[in-house]
Amino acid sequence: MRERRLSKFSVGRKLARALASDHSFRSGRIIGSMCTAPHPFAARVFSKHIEKNLGDPGLSPGAMALEAEAIRSLGGLLSLPDAHGYVVTGGTEANILALWAARERAGGRGREVVVSEAAHFSIDKAARMLGLEIVKVPLGRDRTLDPAEVEKRLSPRTIALVGIAGTTDLGLIDPIEEFSRLAVERGLYLHVDAALGGFVIPFARELGRTNRAFDFSLPGVQSITIDPHKMGMSVIPAGGILFRSRELLELVRIQVPYLSGGETALPTVVGTRSGASVLAVWALLEHLGRRGYRAAVERAYELTDFLAAEVRTIPGLNLVAEPVTNVVGIGAAAMPCERLASLLREKGWAVSLFPGHLRVVLMPHLRLKHIKKLAADLRAVASS
Ligand code: PLP
Repeated sequence: MRERRLSKFSVGRKLARALASDHSFRSGRIIGSMCTAPHPFAARVFSKHIEKNLGDPGLSPGAMALEAEAIRSLGGLLSLPDAHGYVVTGGTEANILALWAARERAGGRGREVVVSEAAHFSIDKAARMLGLEIVKVPLGRDRTLDPAEVEKRLSPRTIALVGIAGTTDLGLIDPIEEFSRLAVERGLYLHVDAALGGFVIPFARELGRTNRAFDFSLPGVQSITIDPHKMGMSVIPAGGILFRSRELLELVRIQVPYLSGGETALPTVVGTRSGASVLAVWALLEHLGRRGYRAAVERAYELTDFLAAEVRTIPGLNLVAEPVTNVVGIGAAAMPCERLASLLREKGWAVSLFPGHLRVVLMPHLRLKHIKKLAADLRAVASS
């Protein structure tokens, strides 16, 4: 730390210089992220309430009540209006809490968790933290999961299944109906990672884009991750964990006696947590409503369709999978994907690279003009 103070002006200048090289959502160049520019109303609510710490919930009974309302609202979206849960820091924290609940519920009966090889790395991280073992199910050629392959990997040591509703690499949806059947038959905990898909699939179903069930309407589903800081368009950090019952939530609560607001039981992985995030989530859910989110999802699909159609016509490029949500996976026959990615990065695109394909996520900060430019650059680099 410096000894002498620096004026706010000088600090601001240093800050601006340092951040000049950062990407911004506004540029329309961030095409590989599942996050987006926060909705201005969410940002306004967030900045107005930055002092709130819901790690000491007794200090903010009003904010806690609105969090409960937000959770009921998310629960309603996922077919369980009386779901129990919290707004957390993101999909990672939500997945950790879900697997923690699964482990506690199993009570030492086993430690294996079965999940597709497309699982987000937070599932591996959670398993390492919790002393669980992840059993990965390979994907078929079309990148989807065969339920028979899942069943083959169940053992007496299996305690949980994780289904993914919107995979990280391609936005695909696991056969969660089958997962649910297996979970009910075998008494397994089923967690659904809908970090991305939670705010997409309910509307995709209404828009006739998919008929896949993935939420609490399936009897085996015990918990769902749904991230407001992804397609929920809220401010970072904002994830969501929803449990089917209060008993499941109680499994991960820890009693804290000394807080200024009085003794309480805290369920999140973090202690001090942002009340501003929670209030921004609540406010945006109220402000946009289903109609607003449906419109955002509809726009995202328009861009997805446009980009997918363009990729089909570009010699040397291919779609790795038919898009199911707002994610387009682009493969290249004539050059390694690493080269395609670096050529695009040279042109200023912040693209996401997976083994064998590039990922473009059509998030709300993107407009048709950006995707038209991207398609033109893809065409140019594919033939270089
Ligand atoms: N689950 C899925 C399917 C994801 O794609 C991601 C992130 O992209 C996560 C969980 C983790 O979310 P976060 O980065 O908010 O912790």
